Amino acid sequence: MEHYDYLIVGAGLSGMVTAEQLSLKGRSCLIIDQRSHLGGNCFDKPDKNGVMYHVYGPHYFRTSVPRVREYLSRFTEWRAASYRIKVNSQGRLWSFPINLESYEEWLGKPATEEDFKSYLAGLPKLSSINNSRDVIVNAVGEEFFNLFYKGYTRKQWGRAAETLDASVTKRIPIRTCRDDRYFSDDFQALPKFGYTHMFYRIWEAIKRQCPASHMQLDTSLKDIRKSKQIAYDHLLYSGPLDEYFDSRLGELPYRSLRFSLECIGPDKLNNPDHPGFAQPALQVNYAGDEAFTRSVEVKHITGQITPYTNQVWEFPQEYEKGKNEPYYPVPYDEAQALAQKYLAMAKAEPNTTFLGRMALYRYINMDQVVNEALQVSETLK
Ligand code: UDP
Repeated sequence: MEHYDYLIVGAGLSGMVTAEQLSLKGRSCLIIDQRSHLGGNCFDKPDKNGVMYHVYGPHYFRTSVPRVREYLSRFTEWRAASYRIKVNSQGRLWSFPINLESYEEWLGKPATEEDFKSYLAGLPKLSSINNSRDVIVNAVGEEFFNLFYKGYTRKQWGRAAETLDASVTKRIPIRTCRDDRYFSDDFQALPKFGYTHMFYRIWEAIKRQCPASHMQLDTSLKDIRKSKQIAYDHLLYSGPLDEYFDSRLGELPYRSLRFSLECIGPDKLNNPDHPGFAQPALQVNYAGDEAFTRSVEVKHITGQITPYTNQVWEFPQEYEKGKNEPYYPVPYDEAQALAQKYLAMAKAEPNTTFLGRMALYRYINMDQVVNEALQVSETLK
């Protein structure tokens, strides 16, 4: 029987950061992941032509938390990134997130920031903001909501914006100036050699700091429990919240995606507007009734010099346990209410800590995940 101080379920950001912090305290960890790689959904790798891509959709690292940046800088150098995207709606491309340029495109003529502000000031205001549609309609009016948010949100979540929490569309800035960056955080950069490389560096640190720690891929919590070969004092769980409890109060909804990788050779990359690239921006969102929501070409931000490129197309779908992966909790009232019940059970679970987007059922970003893992690690013995 092998014994570890901690069993860590999930080799994504939550699990790896916590294991690293615990290894500094001399605590041994067995890190398991049911997939055959570390890095969780941050995992990236080269395609058949050697062009990097984000296997589980785009991961645009940004943070305004100095501690998170300093922490990850122990394991990676950075490459500054401008995350710029376009929206394809009504048969053309638009500047997005909504900014002065989007307003000019909509007007069909040049405008000033004052023009845009006075347009917005003239819009009717809602008396209360109750959902993710209200947030946008109240800020920029129904026309912009219909142009950019209505169709995309329905596809992405399989439900109308009216039924989703306000926080969903609040994630994206709305600006009256020409700043068209997708995020406003102080620090916006990618790990210079990719996320997977950064995760290997974290793993090297764990092994150096506590050689008794191990990682076992292609292994689930059920496998460990069944084998009866592994003993541990504490469990850190970053998988889906309800599945830990065999969904005994009912299944929590998650949203899944299908990713379609398209590898593209130099013969197809001669568009004079963006030579060497397949699309005009890092990410193009599709707000219409296409089955996909976005195409991502990370070569725009990795800076890789290659005559090839790739695009990853995202097709939203329902999560079906065992068939696909859960990527998002679905923020609406009934789901949140059920999640609260599971979270209360999680809190009462002895010697067990729940951490990360799936286990806390919260739509949080990478830097928040790292920050919470650092905070929780301080409390672990
Ligand atoms: N959204 C939208 N149109 C867009 C981009 C985003 O309607 O072109 C809405 C949609 O509901 C989406 C949410 O805003 O789920 C948050 O977008 P974000 O890009 O942050 O989503 P993520 O990258 O986390 O999937």
